Amino acid sequence: MSHPRPAPFKLDVIIVGGSVAGLSMALGLALSGHTVRVLEKSPRLENVPGGIRLTPNVTKILVQWGLGDELRKRGTLVREGSHLWDFETGELIGYLEWAAPVIEETGAKFYMMRFGDLQEILYAAAVRAGAQVMFDTKVAFVEPPCSSEPSEGSDSSSSSPLYEKPSVHLSDGTILESDLIIGADGQHSTVRLSIQEKAVKPRRTGTIVVSGNVPIRKILEDDVLKTESVAYSWVYWFGPRRCFMGYPISFGSEYAVHLFWDHKELDVPEGWIPNLPAKSLKLAEMTSDIKLSRMIEKIDSVCWQRYLDWPEIENWSDDSSRIVLIGEASHPLIPCSTQVCSLSVEAAAVLSTLLSYVRGLDHIPILVRAYETIRRGRSQFLHEVEVTSIAQTMFPPGPARTARDLEMQRLLHAGQDKWDDDAYLGIWGQLCEVWAYNAFDAADDWWVQWGVLRERSMCPQDQHVELPFNHLEISVSAQTGYDD
Ligand SMILES: Cc1cc2nc3c(=O)[nH]c(=O)nc-3n(C[C@H](O)[C@H](O)[C@H](O)COP(=O)(O)OP(=O)(O)OC[C@H]3O[C@@H](n4cnc5c(N)ncnc54)[C@H](O)[C@@H]3O)c2cc1C
Repeated sequence: MSHPRPAPFKLDVIIVGGSVAGLSMALGLALSGHTVRVLEKSPRLENVPGGIRLTPNVTKILVQWGLGDELRKRGTLVREGSHLWDFETGELIGYLEWAAPVIEETGAKFYMMRFGDLQEILYAAAVRAGAQVMFDTKVAFVEPPCSSEPSEGSDSSSSSPLYEKPSVHLSDGTILESDLIIGADGQHSTVRLSIQEKAVKPRRTGTIVVSGNVPIRKILEDDVLKTESVAYSWVYWFGPRRCFMGYPISFGSEYAVHLFWDHKELDVPEGWIPNLPAKSLKLAEMTSDIKLSRMIEKIDSVCWQRYLDWPEIENWSDDSSRIVLIGEASHPLIPCSTQVCSLSVEAAAVLSTLLSYVRGLDHIPILVRAYETIRRGRSQFLHEVEVTSIAQTMFPPGPARTARDLEMQRLLHAGQDKWDDDAYLGIWGQLCEVWAYNAFDAADDWWVQWGVLRERSMCPQDQHVELPFNHLEISVSAQTGYDD
């Protein structure tokens, strides 16, 4: 199936938030020919430090959107394997092989990249495709459309067209309307307030997430680190109530580091706090591993935030289905967890693919509800995978940690000789479920199973309408694929 596909009806869409979710959404929609405005409160796009892992479930989307060359230019391929060391002692506890052919079985490559590079790539591609990105544009609130149906006894000619559409109210008082408003404005979403009856409040967890960068030059100049397989691969230090990881980015010129740290006492405000001197965290004092302490010494500044555990966001769209949430606005994840950007890019690919079938304004609610149906289970699944895997890296001493280390030892021995199917089966079983997901297929499958069926049922029998996949034989089931 070809992606992106021109939409038969062109929508005017406003996206609130110009980070990974908003820019992916803008790109997907603009490639289908929709008119797209992105409203971003920051004054400019800043290439913030910090790294991301782009697993095959997300790189296959970026390649389909024509960004394969950019991935190759700015990304660093995951190769070889990950050494897993003990945070306190530096003892080798495991080795996880990343076999390229096995990764590619899931449909694409696995890259590591500077977080800001991904934003720049998406921004440039969205603008090239025709999206308009307006910086310094803060949204104060969003209003759903009022019913365009005139109420009984009222004069229908008096209904204002402004209120037939959802509208965005900017902090300078400007009002903008559009056919559809997409809230991609992150965990503390303003758009969400127009959808939820009650404001959703997160639970403050004990976990702090710290993110920073080290120039590779500094690692290669270090006598200890240059002899270890640190500079060229993704490595971990598992500790009690903390986990440190590092991996190469920026085409091998920088090293991204993240620390997940159970620390209830430190007073960390909400959201990313940039430019904290790394030395003030006194991380090097927590380990006797010379590799780790040398690595920590080389970090100049970090950004950090406290992980907030949000309850399930009940509705992702308003009653009219003309305001909809994506990315962290709909499903916040653990900061810097592996799937945090995939969640946003996958959601944008699903929603933009569904909206490439839109046949008119009255078709939007069906497609928006389909998006929510398709994405909710997948977001919950990714959330569980991330919470479980990060917890496993931070086990305190006890039976769970002992069992983990035994499993790691098994992988260590398996990885030293050659690829061992049996040893890796458990780990790869779940990874394949995450990585093999194809967001375009998820949306197209829904269309083929339910979208076309619904269109046909609404067509008068003597009228032939050409629909995408009209030729397909569709089996009718009693269940529907969306909550209508
Ligand atoms: C400074 C920073 C550093 C990061 N570092 C890492 C990292 O090291 N590793 C990693 O994996 N991920 C990192 N992330 C990724 C991030 O945490 C998200 O998971 C990811 O960007 C996808 O989230 P999102 O696009 O849904 O939301 P966000 O990235 O939170 O973006 C929301 C956007 O909406 C804008 N916005 C919010 N409210 C309004 C409003 N009222 N009006 C207009 N605009 C608004 C914000 O300015 C922001 O640009 C970082 C993000 C930031 C912002």
